[in-house]
Amino acid sequence: MSSDLLNQALNQTAHQTPNLIVGIYVVAALLFILSLSSLSKQETAENGNLYGIIGMILAIGATIYDPRIEHFTVIIGAMAVGALIGTRLALKVEMTQMPELVAILHSFVGLAAVLVGFNSYFEHAVMTGVMLNIHLVEVFLGIFIGAVTFTGSIVAFGKLRGIFNSAALMLPHRHKMNLIAGIAAFALMVVFVMDAGKDTLPLYVMTGIALIFGWHLVSSIGGADMPVVVSMLNSYSGWAAAAAGFMLNNDLLIVTGALVGSSGAILSYIMCKAMNRSFISVIAGGFGSDVSAAAVDKDYGEHREITAESVAELLNEAKTVLITPGYGMAVAQAQYPVNEVCQALQAKGIDVSFGIHPVAGRLPGHMNVLLAEAKVPYDIVFEMEEVNERMAEADVVLVIGANDTVNPGALDDPNSPIAGMPVIEVWNAKQVIVFKRSMRPGYAGVQNPLFFKENTQLLFGDAKESVENIFKAL
Ligand code: NDP
Repeated sequence: MSSDLLNQALNQTAHQTPNLIVGIYVVAALLFILSLSSLSKQETAENGNLYGIIGMILAIGATIYDPRIEHFTVIIGAMAVGALIGTRLALKVEMTQMPELVAILHSFVGLAAVLVGFNSYFEHAVMTGVMLNIHLVEVFLGIFIGAVTFTGSIVAFGKLRGIFNSAALMLPHRHKMNLIAGIAAFALMVVFVMDAGKDTLPLYVMTGIALIFGWHLVSSIGGADMPVVVSMLNSYSGWAAAAAGFMLNNDLLIVTGALVGSSGAILSYIMCKAMNRSFISVIAGGFGSDVSAAAVDKDYGEHREITAESVAELLNEAKTVLITPGYGMAVAQAQYPVNEVCQALQAKGIDVSFGIHPVAGRLPGHMNVLLAEAKVPYDIVFEMEEVNERMAEADVVLVIGANDTVNPGALDDPNSPIAGMPVIEVWNAKQVIVFKRSMRPGYAGVQNPLFFKENTQLLFGDAKESVENIFKAL
């Protein structure tokens, strides 16, 4: 055996994970898989969280217990500070702020991957030949994915928080710029590896390109397409963690990162299908941005208003009522009085059901979480396709704080930023009542022709107060 190979073999042995820790890692990985599968159903979601928490405690415990870990007190100190900040944030955050919190947390994962990448570039075991090349590719890809995730998530955070304009940034030749950035990064990787990583410049230049690329990628996606971006960044953060796992030689981080990466990719695919977008163009960035928001200024005519008392009368006369919630229900926290109205109507023998759009609110499953919180029974909550099929049977539809997800412009107006997105076709019901506070457009920034249809009436005011007033009048 040559002395180089011997050195590498000795290095590897020194970096091997002790058997007990490997065993705990396997248990933790299984718990993460169990957690993901349980989270896919509302009934088992609570258990899913529990499995995830136990898995994470085991993972952290085993990693700290690893005899190769030095500076134990520094790690505990950093964890304590992180736990304090995390607990404070978790206690303070409103349900409506969850998406932006998720986005900023993704940016931390991206930043961590960048830092781990640079660290394992500057400090690594002695390597040569193929081993060195593999290591350099890991470092390069880890930093690239991490940097894209970092700035992309910051832009997503800004858009969701309202700091940045939610409309798509449409720079001229933006798709070409993205392509050039991708090709340049690849060329730099080839140069970096061929040079055996001696020159740091390609790494720095690529990091700069990746940071700008991530920023531009998410900036060029419009508000209505943000659900896909959030799940896509979730996926990227998983791959960034997996890349860090390769660099740190940590099997559990690789498995966990791959789980997050692939489940995020599956979620992105589901969201793309729900929004009728192409998965490939999402990954390339800037999809759905070649249209204008011109519909905002179009004159649709007059809208009609209604009072809570008149809505109560309509409901009392109805046989079938459908409730379609959206982001406004989350803002108003109206889910509790909504459940009370639902129960009151059911007690009168009226058939009440809920129709949920897959991207209603600001998080995948946002509305389902709110309704479950208010104890609305699962068996009266239906998906968009199911309620659309029998919309004509509904005597009254209550649109509680939904806007983009009930916008007929998505089907009728090819120039709309939400063109092609399937929506809940509430206008096919006999009567539609829309709960909102003003004539402001929805998240996509586009006016809603539904508000001006003959069978639509608007109940202005905070959704919680409006629903409470209806409950009193019932
Ligand atoms: P929208 O964001 O389109 O509209 C919300 C509506 O609620 C507005 O009409 C607003 O009108 C009204 N509203 C807000 N606060 C209140 C209140 N306190 N009382 C009464 N009404 C209120 O909602 P949708 O759920 O229909 O659509 C979600 C949008 O968000 C889509 O464009 C989707 O693509 C996007 N998105 C979704 C994500 C997801 O994962 N689900 C993630 C990121 C973005 P007014 O201000 O006049 O009251």
